[in-house]
Amino acid sequence: MSNKSAECKAAPGKYMPVIDRNRCEAKADCVTVCPYSVFEIQRLAEDERKQLSLRGKIKAWAHGGNQAYVVQPTACQACGLCIEACPEGAIRLTSTSDIVGNNSTTSNTDNAD
Ligand code: SF4
Repeated sequence: MSNKSAECKAAPGKYMPVIDRNRCEAKADCVTVCPYSVFEIQRLAEDERKQLSLRGKIKAWAHGGNQAYVVQPTACQACGLCIEACPEGAIRLTSTSDIVGNNSTTSNTDNAD
């Protein structure tokens, strides 16, 4: 665990990252920087690929169909390192209480094109 983990601001499970599927380019900076192994790079599911904007589809094609995924959402401690590290501005944090019963760790912005 890096020294940066000491700067985390919330108890685990209060906040979690949400990844904008139209922006992510699978550069994995979030995977590298997160002190709690919240992210992994995985292959985009076909149904997710179909929901991308044209620009998102082109990005997905150019990056081998891979993107970052939130695999341990309850481990997040809201330090914000992933937000700072992502060169595509594809990550935001949201309160877990805001997404109860909602499909969760991804979003597609309308203004990505
Ligand atoms: S804010 Fe990002 S880097 Fe920090 S713990 Fe949560 S997922 Fe990991």
